[in-house]
Amino acid sequence: MDLDEIVAIDVHTHAEISSSGHQSLPPYLMEASEKYFGAHGHRLPTIDETAAYYRERKMMAVVFTVDAEQATGHPPIPNEEVAEGCARHPGTLIPFASVDPWRGRAAVRAARRLVEEHGVRGFKFHPSLQDFAPNDRMAYPLYEAIEELGVPALFHTGQTGIGAGLPGGGGIRLAPSDPMLVDDVAADFPGLRIVLAHPSFPWQDEALAVALHKEHVHIDLSGWSPKYFPPQLVRYANSLLQDKVLFGSDHPVITADRWLRDFEGLDIKPGVRRKILKTNAARLLGLAADEEVERHA
Ligand SMILES: [Zn+2]
Repeated sequence: MDLDEIVAIDVHTHAEISSSGHQSLPPYLMEASEKYFGAHGHRLPTIDETAAYYRERKMMAVVFTVDAEQATGHPPIPNEEVAEGCARHPGTLIPFASVDPWRGRAAVRAARRLVEEHGVRGFKFHPSLQDFAPNDRMAYPLYEAIEELGVPALFHTGQTGIGAGLPGGGGIRLAPSDPMLVDDVAADFPGLRIVLAHPSFPWQDEALAVALHKEHVHIDLSGWSPKYFPPQLVRYANSLLQDKVLFGSDHPVITADRWLRDFEGLDIKPGVRRKILKTNAARLLGLAADEEVERHA
């Protein structure tokens, strides 16, 4: 992989369908999310299609699914399959995994195995969909393992399109996605690199405060068109948080093309633009270091 030729790194994309046709969400949630995002016709790309999309644009992308089996009863797309899919496109895709924290010690073992044997480079959590509070001690052995493995943990924060518009939001609670709950995790695991995903509406100020206060907390800008970013997010991205804010689209529900087009129109300083699109992610994901190693090898 030649990092110099990469124009952007998307830290937030979803694997939504397995090779056997199994979808990441139960049908009623998939349908509702498709409506919410207006993502008809491009809601279920395969990993190879995602790779082709990013390669064509000289971009890299982090790919993950969400294991929320305990809360939804719906089995996840296997992490191993996501990892293998990404391994077919090593210069383009970066695999993250998702292990349901409700799986307890099995989750800890799975996390270790996924990193050590399957090349997984980080973990995704969705507290609302997985129905757990990030600061619940139940999840601490898993964070401890992830911190030790030295890979980042990405937490969905804020409003979610999953369950949106359904009676009772499909039974999905918003409260667990308050970024202030992740502040506890950051305090208790000071070496853990954390990403707060999305503009955290209605807790944007909380997310900014946590990222300002905790050295290893980052913010990804996925899930929203940049047109609708709250002004304080743009202000902090341009200044105090310019080394900690990351490009993410939430592909396929928001395509990288749409996101980047709208990002063009945002008032971001040119030097900061490059940091957000690429260099901050390269550092967080350890890609810059890889390259150094390769060059000196
Ligand atoms: Zn997402």
